Amino acid sequence: MDTLEVLERFDIRVWSRNGERAPHKPLLLLMALVKLKNQGSSQIAFSDFESNFEKLVEVYGRRQTDAAYPFSRLPNDNLWQITPTLKDALDSGKKLREANAQGKFPADLESRLATDHILIDQVINTLLAKHFPETYWGDLISDIEALYPNPKSGLPDVGVPLPPDLEPPESRVAVPRAVRDPRFRAEVLNAYRSTCAICGFDGHIGFHPISIEAAHIQWHARLGPDQVPNGLALCAVHHRAFDYGAITVTTSFKIEISPLYKSDSATDSWLRPFQDHPLRLPHSPEHRPDPTYLDWHRREVFRG
Ligand SMILES: [Zn+2]
Repeated sequence: MDTLEVLERFDIRVWSRNGERAPHKPLLLLMALVKLKNQGSSQIAFSDFESNFEKLVEVYGRRQTDAAYPFSRLPNDNLWQITPTLKDALDSGKKLREANAQGKFPADLESRLATDHILIDQVINTLLAKHFPETYWGDLISDIEALYPNPKSGLPDVGVPLPPDLEPPESRVAVPRAVRDPRFRAEVLNAYRSTCAICGFDGHIGFHPISIEAAHIQWHARLGPDQVPNGLALCAVHHRAFDYGAITVTTSFKIEISPLYKSDSATDSWLRPFQDHPLRLPHSPEHRPDPTYLDWHRREVFRG
């Protein structure tokens, strides 16, 4: 099986209509890939998978989905096999639990990937880029690695953080660098004069804006176009808050904070004060956010 065949096999069908998010099968695959890379086997017991999957879906998914859904349906994509073989276990967490079901990659895929960690990284990167926005990549992989740590990467606790280059090379999954459309970034920053549309931060050194990013309203990974009406210039903090659904923008361009957003600090000056504030709109009306994309964000991302 060559590299291309492996990558094509992971090019899974996900249930998606109108750019709806369907992150459940990709999440299971990422968990199995990280486990295989760090611990030498992709095998996951359904009973362990269930609670870990629910935690990840709460942050990286949108709708709560029964863990039995991806676990029992992925075999149809020729990417997953369950033992023991169960009849009528489709979507049934109860049956999977009672049978102590174990899932893993089919043997040919498992042996091909187990000896090629570069290929595992390639598959991981492809899944991340296809199903999740760039702001999720590093966090999502770190959270999965915390579930399936590499036992060989344990370093003596010396009381101070070690510089990244002292970490063993095998200990971390290499998260991809974003393949951005440079024109989209330039056009969005230009339309918003390199100013965060939420807080107005516009710090720069020379001509270079500091931490002002071009965010997609409808994610690029969910078919959102690289066009200014699907973009917002946001500072790094508000970009993440927007992508994680802590903030949205109404079709009348007002900022709305999620009722699920929590902060333990008494003086939350980053998000709360912006509730109901008007968005800082671009000068040209044709550059304003398109309500179609704002609707998508409210429906698919915002924690309403
Ligand atoms: Zn900001």
